[in-house]
Amino acid sequence: MTRVWPSVDALVIKAVDAVIDHTIRPLATTVDEDATFPAEAIAELAREGLGVMLMPSALGGADTSTATYAEALARISAACGSTSTVYMTQMHCAHPIHLQGSPEQVEKWVPRLCSGTAVGSIALTEPGAGSDVGTMRTLARRDGDDYVISGEKTFISNGDRADVVVLFASVDFAKDKHGVTAFLVETEGLEGFTVGRPMKKLGQTGASTVTLALQDCRIPASSRLGAEGDGYPLLLQSVLRSRISAAAQGLGFAEGAYDATVTWASERGLLSSRASAAQDLQFELSRLRGEITSARAMLMSVCDTVDSSDEEPVAEVSLVKMHCTALGTRVSATCVELLGMDGDKVSVGVERRLRDAKIAEIYDGTNQIQSVLVARDINGAAKAGRPAR
Ligand SMILES: Cc1cc2nc3c(=O)[nH]c(=O)nc-3n(C[C@H](O)[C@H](O)[C@H](O)COP(=O)(O)OP(=O)(O)OC[C@H]3O[C@@H](n4cnc5c(N)ncnc54)[C@H](O)[C@@H]3O)c2cc1C
Repeated sequence: MTRVWPSVDALVIKAVDAVIDHTIRPLATTVDEDATFPAEAIAELAREGLGVMLMPSALGGADTSTATYAEALARISAACGSTSTVYMTQMHCAHPIHLQGSPEQVEKWVPRLCSGTAVGSIALTEPGAGSDVGTMRTLARRDGDDYVISGEKTFISNGDRADVVVLFASVDFAKDKHGVTAFLVETEGLEGFTVGRPMKKLGQTGASTVTLALQDCRIPASSRLGAEGDGYPLLLQSVLRSRISAAAQGLGFAEGAYDATVTWASERGLLSSRASAAQDLQFELSRLRGEITSARAMLMSVCDTVDSSDEEPVAEVSLVKMHCTALGTRVSATCVELLGMDGDKVSVGVERRLRDAKIAEIYDGTNQIQSVLVARDINGAAKAGRPAR
């Protein structure tokens, strides 16, 4: 049995590893090279009851700890970045529905997202509103028993496949973030709803990312998620989980690059104590292993805090998002260098981890934004005379 952090369910991880070995890893290079949506892997994870593992089992989830989810996502990411992003987006859609949906909304969508019979997206970002989502310009105007929504969302993961989109719009721009409201937009046959072509991207090429345009889209008022103005607090709660996802990905990308480098070095006899000319490489691998081990401990400990504390650990989640996603880029860049020209070879797979890792520093709140949140926390602690840590 794999050795795991105490709050991680080893049986769940064993099941995840089986899907990785059977489908995710064998398809990873093709998914990246051909920018193929990893539908097969997502279907297999769902068949194994791992579709959206943080959801309650009564709704088709696996009811796992946050640490189990993060460990699973790190392993999926180590094998295939595209699959990990598509997979986590299902959770990012199910989570706000579960948090704030009516019983009917939850019953309708969460089991489908868990079973993989529906694909979900979450749409916050707009061409002019990324980090500062309070400035969003998608308008939801109440009209009798309906809302009429117009605006544009961009960089929406899974958006071209989505059956349902948790969409954030303003009901009143004058109210700034207090006007932000969430809606469950069912895409099938929705008039005025247009999906852009999947963007060509640096990494995670199989995870489609699109623009969604809404031109006077009429949806029933019953599609609102919570009350008018409840969207911003919901958004803050949602990003706390999606930042855990990004952190797990960063750890996974670092591990994927490290594992590929160890295999490469071992095949060349560079790891034995007799290979003294390769001592620099061996020392560097030892250092990277230490970095990965400490990042995993940090991630797992923050996950345990998320599950056990009454208050959301906002600064801790930002710190781990920042730390692990930067680790993904740093470790994979080092591995590219260690391999010399083979670092640039697609068949070795290290360059893919570097491309996949870089983007995780941007989404779910850029690492600069995480620094802003942590700095705010330090200031608050200092003013209150608490230790700023
Ligand atoms: C692959 C990918 C998938 C994505 N998937 C989704 C999705 O599914 N749904 C969704 O809604 N969005 C998604 N996004 C969008 C993502 O969340 C945004 O890109 C991110 O929030 C940053 O917004 P922005 O790109 O508009 O950058 P901007 O906000 O324009 O920022 C530009 C630069 O300025 C810096 N900056 C901005 N404000 C500050 C500040 N106050 N202090 C210091 N620095 C600052 C930023 O750190 C950044 O370096 C995705 C993005 C990518 C790349």
